[in-house]
Amino acid sequence: MRAFPHTMSNPDCPCCGQALEAGLATWHRQCPACGYEGAQLAIAINATEAHQRVDEAVREQALHDLRHENFEQLLDIIDRARTLTAADGERPKLLDVGAGYGWFVRQAATRFTAEGIEPDAGARAVAARAGVVLRDGFFPQCLEPDERFDVISFNDSIEHFDDPAGALAVAAGRLRPGGVLALNLPDAQGALYRLARLLRRLGVSGPFDRMWQVGMPSPHRHYFNRGNLSRLAGRLGLETVAVDELQSLRLKGLYARIAYARPHAAVTSGLLWLGMLPLLAALRWLHGDIMVLVLRPGPPARNAADSGDGALAG
Ligand SMILES: [Zn+2]
Repeated sequence: MRAFPHTMSNPDCPCCGQALEAGLATWHRQCPACGYEGAQLAIAINATEAHQRVDEAVREQALHDLRHENFEQLLDIIDRARTLTAADGERPKLLDVGAGYGWFVRQAATRFTAEGIEPDAGARAVAARAGVVLRDGFFPQCLEPDERFDVISFNDSIEHFDDPAGALAVAAGRLRPGGVLALNLPDAQGALYRLARLLRRLGVSGPFDRMWQVGMPSPHRHYFNRGNLSRLAGRLGLETVAVDELQSLRLKGLYARIAYARPHAAVTSGLLWLGMLPLLAALRWLHGDIMVLVLRPGPPARNAADSGDGALAG
């Protein structure tokens, strides 16, 4: 196996501490012990040139229905997992980290006093047009010292953090008693990602690069699975209180979703769409591609060696 260039930082697995090995691309590496995958891809937040590649109108249309249903499901999962923390008559507070266009904040506002943080000026402008005012900046620097929340959500955002463990540890310290962290993110064991890996091994890099969002303003830095992300959380003293999955594909809007990344290749997009129809049927029986984990601060861990089960009440 090739060694990684010396310029690559953070060579150990954030989940289990094992040294990472070379992966399926020069920028990709993986953990031989727990299956964690990481990437060294450039981030171009607020870089206009990268943003020009994104056709916002197509994206909005492509993802609206799926997003709305997934967000309702996510809010239901959060509601079931958290214990009531807000005082009588007060709405619980939710903070969405990496709020993007503010879609989740807007939908969460039906149940919470919801706020979001978003460093990208273009995304905040889109949100503002829809009436959602997002805070400018990065988490946690843009919070006030005494701010606490009942729910902090990382809605497709923790996989973009350079240091996800650090972000989760800080977020846990920002919860009110009984509060939870809610994460939804791509699952490395999802059927589509595993297919993309297989294709990459066969020399077809397009789907794999697309899953990592290579060339996008904010590409993915990590691919976790349920097991190794729970393990990472456990190392931070966070209990996993709910594990679930969201649907990643629906027939409606699939073409627009495929075309979003390749605005000048309609024929290719059409063929891809046709090729994915049988896959859609198969996906109903396969592993989902978006995982949800709800975490809450547990009792201080005395020994994190192997605390797999048995300790959880209720
Ligand atoms: Zn590992």
